[in-house]
Amino acid sequence: MHKNAQTVEAFGRFMSAARIDGKACAADLEKRLKQRIANCSVQPHLAVIIVGDDPASHVYVNNKIRSCERLGIRSTHVELPEDTDESVVADYIQSMNQQNDLHGILIQSPLPKHMNEEALTELIDPRKDVDGFHPVNLGRLVQGRSDGMVPCTPAGVMEMLRWAEVDLTGKKAVVLGRSFNVGMPQALLLAARGVDATVTVVHSRTRDAKSECLQADVIVAAVGRPEMIQPDWVKKGAIVVDVGINRVDDSSRERGWRLAGDVHPDVALHASLLSPVPGGVGPMTVAMLMANTVTATERLCS
Ligand code: NAP
Repeated sequence: MHKNAQTVEAFGRFMSAARIDGKACAADLEKRLKQRIANCSVQPHLAVIIVGDDPASHVYVNNKIRSCERLGIRSTHVELPEDTDESVVADYIQSMNQQNDLHGILIQSPLPKHMNEEALTELIDPRKDVDGFHPVNLGRLVQGRSDGMVPCTPAGVMEMLRWAEVDLTGKKAVVLGRSFNVGMPQALLLAARGVDATVTVVHSRTRDAKSECLQADVIVAAVGRPEMIQPDWVKKGAIVVDVGINRVDDSSRERGWRLAGDVHPDVALHASLLSPVPGGVGPMTVAMLMANTVTATERLCS
């Protein structure tokens, strides 16, 4: 069995897949971050800007702030109403760029429809772009450079695979999804020199996603389609990382819904390793945001 993986028991029967526990991996990373924070000449400081009332976004922001508190990272939380003018957000960003005691700036997505998220992201000083979405940082990723900021979710997936001691060299990886924030950077990270997987990117115009997946040693699913990856899409022994977070109706739950990944839980019958939802990539995304904030602080203050 892979290191740091646990055998899954689901639906009352033992399944073949071991679980990549994102919470445990994140806790391990946090331990190392605490040491790095103790060695920083200043306290790392992250600013989060949230616009509007999207309940899920507020939950995500609160998780990020709680993580900061746990690690001793200072956080500034700017909450703006839905009808805020884009220029107000731009002013916040520009003033935060100038603030020497602030090292990371994050704009919580999605922004209201009247705002241009790309244009606002480009205003962030790339050294403080802890989401890694600035074109300078995405460009460095394409160049294979290690001096940029890497988007948190795909970086978290790579950290989970490293933690479970998965050797990706020469493996056939399929990434489902080609968003700039998850799918595309994920494909680049898997194909990077030193990681050396051979990567196929599947998207909504792919002719036969199932047959692409069936050839894969490693599958990373980031499509936002609940349980799209079915057990018969996965070859025996494959490693499957589920990035998806989808809210689906479930009348058996008191709240009337449950969280589902992009991967059907019965994939555990075929896979050798599977990341759960919740408790997989989600906690790693937050942990990598903390890591990027610490990295930004180290670079800005050295
Ligand atoms: P996104 O921007 O909507 O991108 C979805 C991608 O999936 C697109 O490239 C789309 O293809 C592709 N796709 C959609 N339907 C498909 C289908 N039937 N077959 C093949 N490809 C299909 O979403 P995202 O931001 O990348 O997020 C993806 C999922 O990850 C969501 O569930 C999101 O909630 C979750 N997520 C989780 C975390 C975390 O921390 N765990 C972080 C970020 C996102 P086209 O390009 O052709 O449209």
